[in-house]
Amino acid sequence: MAITKNIKCPNCGVFNTNRDYCKNCNTLISFEKKQEQKVAAFKQEEIKKAQHKIENPNLAERLKKHKFWLFRIFGWILYSAYLLISAIGALVAWFVAMVAAG
Ligand SMILES: [Zn+2]
Repeated sequence: MAITKNIKCPNCGVFNTNRDYCKNCNTLISFEKKQEQKVAAFKQEEIKKAQHKIENPNLAERLKKHKFWLFRIFGWILYSAYLLISAIGALVAWFVAMVAAG
C-alpha cells in the first residue's frame, strides 16, 4: 500500500495527492524534490568552483608557463617566494611552539 501524501500548494492553495507538481498551477510542491534540487544546485556550484580553480591557476603558475622567458623567470621567483614564505611561516610556528613548551 502506497502512502498517500496530501500537499497543499503554497501558490494557489489547491490540495494535491501524490504529486510533485501542483495540478492547478504546476508549482513544485514536493519537499523531497525541493531538497533534491537544492543539493543538485549546491553540487553544481562546487563543480563550477573547482573548474574555475583549474582554469585559473594562481599568478606564479600562470607565469611559469608564459611564452616569454622573462615572465617565466619572474614566475619562478614568485613561486620561490611563496615557498620561502610558507617555510618561514612553518619555522616561526615551530619556534613559537618551542618557546611556549620551554
Ligand atoms: Zn498550485
